[in-house]
Amino acid sequence: MARGSIKLSPGYAGGAAGRLSGWLCVRGAGGRNDDLPPIPAAAVRSAGRKQIPIRGQVVRVAQVGLDRFILDDYGPNGIAYIVPRINDCILGGTADEGAEDLTPDPATAEAILARCIALEPRLREAAVLEHKVGLRPGRPTVRLEVERPVIGKLLVHNYGHGGAGVTLSWGCAAEVVRLVSC
Ligand SMILES: Cc1cc2nc3c(=O)[nH]c(=O)nc-3n(C[C@H](O)[C@H](O)[C@H](O)COP(=O)(O)OP(=O)(O)OC[C@H]3O[C@@H](n4cnc5c(N)ncnc54)[C@H](O)[C@@H]3O)c2cc1C
Repeated sequence: MARGSIKLSPGYAGGAAGRLSGWLCVRGAGGRNDDLPPIPAAAVRSAGRKQIPIRGQVVRVAQVGLDRFILDDYGPNGIAYIVPRINDCILGGTADEGAEDLTPDPATAEAILARCIALEPRLREAAVLEHKVGLRPGRPTVRLEVERPVIGKLLVHNYGHGGAGVTLSWGCAAEVVRLVSC
């Protein structure tokens, strides 16, 4: 594992002109990156590769004694996953490219519950606690690169990790540290 530290400045501030304060900015605004105002003089090398939202809906239910993670990526009615936690379970899910409505859809929630109960019948007894929707930052490729928009300033792009942002965060953070240390 790579270890390192970087001194962060207040960083990038939006606005019509865009502004880069301090010597280093790591740009990782999740689903909003391609929409942030441009930084003057920054070369937008990947401008053609736009980020798109990939909508994901989940249902949070009470724990019913589950301790195994179950994932079915190829079910006939869509993906299904069960992620047990200490006090609750996350049931999923959906992956709708281009959709960005953050309102949970009741019919989708019912379908998620049905798929998960088919995998784990004990969930039939689980109380529904919450419905949530998130947008994965989908991109044909992760954007992880350095730009030098102005002499003496470093801008590191680190975004577009789609449905694997948590998983990839360790390696990408290490790569950011390596890039700014060069
Ligand atoms: C339903 C669902 C299931 C998922 N499952 C998994 C999984 O199983 N495994 C996995 O690895 N990943 C999973 N992901 C993907 C993961 O959540 C994302 O890839 C990850 O959160 C992206 O991390 P990020 O730090 O790039 O963006 P975010 O987590 O979105 O963080 C971006 C931050 O930037 C801030 N920000 C935005 N705009 C500005 C601005 N203008 N100025 C300053 N700050 C700003 C935001 O407030 C936010 O704090 C899932 C996502 C969803 C929606």
